[in-house]
This record gives sequence, structure tokens and C-alpha cells, in this order.
Amino acid sequence: MPEGDTVWNTARLLARALTGARLTGSDFRVPQLAATDLTDWRVADCASRGKHLLIRLAEPTGGTPWTLHSHLRMDGTWRVYAPGQRWTARPAHLIRVVLTTATATAVGYHLHEVALMPTAEEHRLVGHLGPDLLGPDWDPAEAVRRLADRPAESIAEALLDQRNLAGVGNLYKCELLFLRGINPRTRVDAVPDLAGLVTLAHDLLAANRGRWTQSTTGSLHRGQTSYVYGRRAQPCRRCGTAIRKEELGERVTYWCPRCQPAPT
Ligand SMILES: [Zn+2]
Repeated sequence: MPEGDTVWNTARLLARALTGARLTGSDFRVPQLAATDLTDWRVADCASRGKHLLIRLAEPTGGTPWTLHSHLRMDGTWRVYAPGQRWTARPAHLIRVVLTTATATAVGYHLHEVALMPTAEEHRLVGHLGPDLLGPDWDPAEAVRRLADRPAESIAEALLDQRNLAGVGNLYKCELLFLRGINPRTRVDAVPDLAGLVTLAHDLLAANRGRWTQSTTGSLHRGQTSYVYGRRAQPCRRCGTAIRKEELGERVTYWCPRCQPAPT
């Protein structure tokens, strides 16, 4: 599941493959950019903002810097292939963008919100985001302030709201609440230590930066990487109680009814 750390890793993968390179070809398989050709454009850098990917480009003649934006949502991914290597990550009909250089081909599968815009206008797509957990400007106090702005919201939904803080997806949401002993339905204003919660969010994502296996338990062994996420009806690793799963807002939530008692 693409969360902030996955998107950060993807940006780094693309940066290593593309930064500084001249594109020898491009292929956009989305209607809004079907006629776009970025041949001879140069890749200036690749960055992530929360769960948004930003590939920054320079026109062959210089001039205005441009940004190719994409969002991975639940199912998108970028892969990098060597010249001549078969593109095997996903079925070809899921390909949305192909960027080719002399030494690498970046293939974007099932990307969402693919858009090309002047870099000066990036804010239209990412300006609403709260502090980026893995950004250079991570600001925990601002994240707490934004969370506290909507006190009646459930903490589970508030953590997923990228306007509060950018980078937490469903896996980290569930794991964070377990680790802090907070029931997912707890109102934001009833969470005892919001600062501690956002600091732990940052620490969990930062710990998983640079690797593709997401673990909140410290173990990278299959089946041992989470406390509650994906573990419905399995025993809690702390108390043995069966983990529960329930729809909460638009997403499912996993929690331990004993370690995370319902708010009173
Ligand atoms: Zn438990």
C-alpha cells in the first residue's frame, strides 16, 4: 500500500534513474496528455510531497520549469527498467506514463491525477497538504494545530486527512493508534497527547524510509510486520485478544478491543 514512505522511496528511485538525464522519449497514455512529447526535456529532480510525486523538468530551451505530477493512491506504482529489459511489473494496459533516457526507462502504472504544470503552480495540487512527515520542512507543531482544528472528528479519520499531516495511510493509521493505545473512534480532542502521536507517525515512516517492506514491529519477517493491520481475528501480539476489523469512514480499521478500549 503506497503510504508516505513508499512514495518517498519511489521519488528516490526515480531521482537516481532520471535526475540530470535528457529524455529520449515519452509516452503518455492518459487522455489529458496524449499529445504531449517531452523528448529532449531534462529531468531536474524528483520529489515527494505526502503521497504526491513530483518530477520536475526543464524544457530543451530552458525557460519555465515544469512539473509532472502523479499520485499513487491505492494501486499506482513507478518502476525503472534498464534498456531492453521487459516491463513486467503490471499488465501493459495499466501503463499511464513512460519516460525514457539513454540509460533507463521509468514506467508508471495505474497512476492517478497525471498532470503537467509550471512548477510555480504545484501548489494547486499539493498546497492544501499539511506538514509532510518525510519532508525537509516537517513541522509537528503545525500538524498538531491542524488536527486540533477539527476536534470532533475521529482520530482515525483525522490521521488519514492529508490536510492535517501528509503521508499517513491506512496501515500506519491502524498501527499508530495501537501503539498509543488509542481507540480509532476517539474524538481528536479526547486524544491525550497529539504531539506524541504525530512524533511517532514521523518516527515510523522515517524508520521505513529506504526499504520497501513496511514494518511497525521491528520485524521484517512475512506475517510479523504489523501489530493489527491486516490481522483480523488473529491474537493481539500484546494481550492475545482477537483483533477486530471494521469500516470507519471510508476505510477499514483494525484494532485490539482490549489494548485500545472504546472511549467512555
Ligand atoms: Zn491487545
